[in-house]
Amino acid sequence: MNMKEYGFGVDVGGTTCKLGFFKTDGTLLDKWEIVTDTSNNGVNILKDITDAIYEKMAENNITKDDVQGIGVGVPGAVTPDGVVNRCVNLGWGVVPIEKDLAEISGMKVRAANDSNIAALGEAWMGGGKGCDSVVMVTLGTGIGGGIVINNQIVTGHHGAAGEIGHIVVNPDEILECNCGNHGCIEQYASATGIVRLAKRHMDRSQKASPIRDIADLTAKDVFDYAKKKDELSVEIVETVCGLLGKLIAKICNVVNPEIVLIGGGVSKAGDIIIDNMMEDFTSEVFHASKDTKIALATLGNDAGIYGGLRLILD
Ligand SMILES: [Zn+2]
Repeated sequence: MNMKEYGFGVDVGGTTCKLGFFKTDGTLLDKWEIVTDTSNNGVNILKDITDAIYEKMAENNITKDDVQGIGVGVPGAVTPDGVVNRCVNLGWGVVPIEKDLAEISGMKVRAANDSNIAALGEAWMGGGKGCDSVVMVTLGTGIGGGIVINNQIVTGHHGAAGEIGHIVVNPDEILECNCGNHGCIEQYASATGIVRLAKRHMDRSQKASPIRDIADLTAKDVFDYAKKKDELSVEIVETVCGLLGKLIAKICNVVNPEIVLIGGGVSKAGDIIIDNMMEDFTSEVFHASKDTKIALATLGNDAGIYGGLRLILD
């Protein structure tokens, strides 16, 4: 099969769809966003994506014959045969996205979970470039994850592999996670989890701290003050990263990747995250996986569109 010259990567979110226009060698030529129309159970989303892509093709004087295909990430589980099973954020029930979008657009379509394509993008062109097996942990409002082995996403039988955010790290937790369980890592190391943990530390500690005076405390505030050596903030960061280090050790014992990447909005805090997780990681991980690299993701919000493109290259 001859590879065509161009391709599109699309990252569908609950508020916007990010689109990337690429050469199939991975060169990003253009990227833009459109609003995600979730009205009427998201019935217009695929048509809107198609229109946006055809507009871009017209601007660049190319036709669908020059395009390898469209790779799409969605915020939900996607079965290996390309069916989305419930995307609450998009209003979707069961949607055979690969078939439907291929019919509307007239192009080849592949789809996967958004966290998984972000991992694929990072593995291909980002922090994991040159590595065949990569695990990505995405610390955002929630925690997502993706596993890439031999340059292929591990989707799992139910399309739910890589649900790293809902691995239980504290079975004694009183509060319930969004998933109904108690003590998932998402309750501690997501942006919202860090703030909740910070409030708990503030309640239980007598220590003075500038973070006590911040009305709408964010995870970024906690990391910023930890970098300034505020004791209470340091304590919170050590707790969060310690849990992450232990979690990554368990993941490495199962998957044994070459590298683990930390991405998502929280990862903008930088090396402080990795520095504070290494001790717990090293003490828990099986000796043969001790040298697993842990690094920050590098593509930021573009990881999904790169991964989308990578999907259609096989
Ligand atoms: Zn959970």
